[in-house]
Amino acid sequence: MSGVNCPYRKSCGGCTTIGQDYESTLRKKEKWVEKLLRPYVRLDGIVGMEQPLHYRNKVHRVCSYERFGGRERHIAGIYAEGTHRVVPVKHCLIENETADAMIDDLMDMVRSFRIRIYNEDTGVGLLRHILIRTAHATGQVMVVLVLTSPVLPGKKHFLKALLAAHPEITTVVININDRRTSMVLGEREQVAYGPGFIEDVLLGKRFRISSRSFYQVNSVQAERIYAQAIEYAALKGRETVVDAYCGIGTIGLAASDHAGRVIGVESNADAAADAAVNAKLNHADHALFICDDAADYLQRMAAERKKADVIFMDPPRSGSSEVFLEAAVAVSPGRIVYISCNPETLARDLGWLSKHGYRARKAMAFDQFCFADHIETVCLLTHS
Ligand code: SAH
Repeated sequence: MSGVNCPYRKSCGGCTTIGQDYESTLRKKEKWVEKLLRPYVRLDGIVGMEQPLHYRNKVHRVCSYERFGGRERHIAGIYAEGTHRVVPVKHCLIENETADAMIDDLMDMVRSFRIRIYNEDTGVGLLRHILIRTAHATGQVMVVLVLTSPVLPGKKHFLKALLAAHPEITTVVININDRRTSMVLGEREQVAYGPGFIEDVLLGKRFRISSRSFYQVNSVQAERIYAQAIEYAALKGRETVVDAYCGIGTIGLAASDHAGRVIGVESNADAAADAAVNAKLNHADHALFICDDAADYLQRMAAERKKADVIFMDPPRSGSSEVFLEAAVAVSPGRIVYISCNPETLARDLGWLSKHGYRARKAMAFDQFCFADHIETVCLLTHS
């Protein structure tokens, strides 16, 4: 696909290569990962997208003001990369298009219902953020309104108008964030409409997703990444599998048909609760999900002399920790499948593992974040 033009390219800064030919962006990412992993393993290639636009299933807008002709007007935008400056955005080339249209209508309603927009400088106002999550397989849509107070004036009429304009919305959640913080979501929530979560299907398994749980933003590529991770695990059906940093349990449950036992560990309480529900939804009685720090849990397993046959690990961008890696090695898995969203920390952790009895055997990169400076890599290590 040849380069596409984004009007926000310079001001937003999120998609660093949006004007370039897609194939050439893939080759650059492939080279980047290849070089980082070269001391440990040969990269087998990179899997790109057939349609690299509008892939993001989660859309976030900051609500703010803009001075226009001497007057202030409401805007919904994106923080310019690395700043707190809000760039008004209407049609983003990588986001779900339905969600973008919804935000446009929502902002019209915010104006007509005279809902006050939060001012980051003074701390005054009600509406801070709008978050929309869409499920690609089921079509379910969640709208999260982040407010400074649980009281949304005219809530009943507001919801009625919103649902009339967008009947595809299946749930609306009000999240309360009254702190002067850069965190988007607060701790408290109220379900304003529907069940308070959405469900999606990945690799034939059903997943419940709450507003604060992590969920891969690119569902098409997530399925391919999980399929690769499961292939690398080469499960025969009786293994004890640990899914570390499991989120809502996607990898462990997708692999559960081929495993004897699945233990998922996740530190975010909402995501861990979703994972436990997801085990039930998929009739996976042999899957157990635990809310804990992944390193602490594995250390306890090691202290109790418990073993794992396979560890899937999918840490955040900062990578894993030495404490985790030590504990992982102590439960002596035959295979470790590392799913990484940052090749730099992956290379660092491969360096550690290669000095502690494990060898990287195979690796494949996946373009999860087309046109942005991120890349996902799946790597297989075996006990050497
Ligand atoms: N495997 C999941 C989630 C990956 S994102 C998926 O594919 O959807 C990384 C996850 O690690 C997040 O859900 C985050 O909450 C969790 N996490 C971060 N630090 C952690 C820690 N120290 N222990 C356990 N989980 C952690």
